[in-house]
Amino acid sequence: MSSAVDSFMNYVVAKNPNEPEFHQAVREVVESVMPVVESTPAYKRAKILERIVEPERAVSFRVPWMDDRGEIRVNKGYRVQFSSAIGPYKGGLRFHANVTLGTLKFLGFEQIFKNSLTTLPMGGGKGGSDLDPRGMSDNEMMRFCQAFMGELFRHIGPDTDVPAGDIGVGGREIGYLFGTYKKLAKEFTGVLTGKNVNWGGSLVRPEATGFGVTYFIEEMLKTKGDSLKGKKVSLSGFGNVAWGAALKMQELGATVVTISGPDGFIHDPNGVKGEKIDFMLQMRASGRDRVQDYAEKFKVEFHAGKRPWMVPVDVAVPCAIQNELDENDARTLLKNGVKCVCEAANMPVVPKAVSLLQEAKILFAPGKAANAGGVATSGLEMSQNAQHLYWSREEVDARLKQIMQRIHQTCATYGTEQNYVNYVKGANIGGFIKVADAMLDQGLV
Ligand code: GLU
Repeated sequence: MSSAVDSFMNYVVAKNPNEPEFHQAVREVVESVMPVVESTPAYKRAKILERIVEPERAVSFRVPWMDDRGEIRVNKGYRVQFSSAIGPYKGGLRFHANVTLGTLKFLGFEQIFKNSLTTLPMGGGKGGSDLDPRGMSDNEMMRFCQAFMGELFRHIGPDTDVPAGDIGVGGREIGYLFGTYKKLAKEFTGVLTGKNVNWGGSLVRPEATGFGVTYFIEEMLKTKGDSLKGKKVSLSGFGNVAWGAALKMQELGATVVTISGPDGFIHDPNGVKGEKIDFMLQMRASGRDRVQDYAEKFKVEFHAGKRPWMVPVDVAVPCAIQNELDENDARTLLKNGVKCVCEAANMPVVPKAVSLLQEAKILFAPGKAANAGGVATSGLEMSQNAQHLYWSREEVDARLKQIMQRIHQTCATYGTEQNYVNYVKGANIGGFIKVADAMLDQGLV
């Protein structure tokens, strides 16, 4: 089997040079699904694998804008429309200095399977810009979003492609992007998700990724007759995902002892809770992109330039960015007795670290399963928009929880091997089959 995977990967790397993150994401899926493809003649005949790794469409465009000093700035803008087999393209926009077409191909590819796992009718896509939003004023961000949407609007629509937020794109940016879309398209539709609840957004969408991750971890621990109550948890990042996770972790009786930023991490043994969680929002709104402010305000330890994985915990949840937890981090976590590592960001754990955690037979879940609550609640926002209705907080939260429980069940169904749930395998196969079957049904398109 590994030779089939290697030869397919040689093909992918040759066709997509210089895109290491995309190769990493494809290899992980192909390793899981190759046995299914090899034993399903219809998939082989229809060249499902060769087709699924090629985006249906990718647009790249210029984003010229003017900063507050009157200087003209030029950024790159992209939208990768990866798969519409089971619904309109759906996935976030990332504004971050390290964004390239390759990054967005990795994220768009992951999104196909994640969205499939939610059971909602959403295809996979991703977009963004190499913009570094740090230190930008509100007006600068508005002008940037207007310039970005000035091109993007002709490629999206409520039944075509529905972007949302991701790193660097939150409620403020979605507002500016929506305003420009509405003006250019002359229609008020659910073309973006993550909108403010006053004008079409869904309750619980801001918290949804972190809530969903926490519900998923609770399901994982349940398989061991355990729960989050009384557990010590490390989070990385301090953005939207970490914030939502901290809120739900507190509610379920766990103690979050770390959060982090590009400057280092803070260790708060008494727990990131109450007003300290609210402070995460203030830190984000300040645009300073540092957590040292937390350490100064609440008088806790700050570890400059370090990652939080050296702190002994029961559950570790990387919530920041791809490849932020490596083999050495995994070894340290295992040595310190970690019971569960759950990806809340997209692909934050490097492949060798994933293998180490799986070999040690601890609970490990990939982002495409565990963090699907964000996009799932985007799907619920689309449903509410299509009905011109709002659902209550309780209703959205109950549906989110049920979706996360179903995703967990799918992982267990396809990933159980000798009493151990391989969540990577389960998520990949469970997500893949639905998309592959839809591609067969729809013919060669
Ligand atoms: N960016 C989030 C993700 O990685 C959310 C996407 C969405 O809501 O469309 O899944």
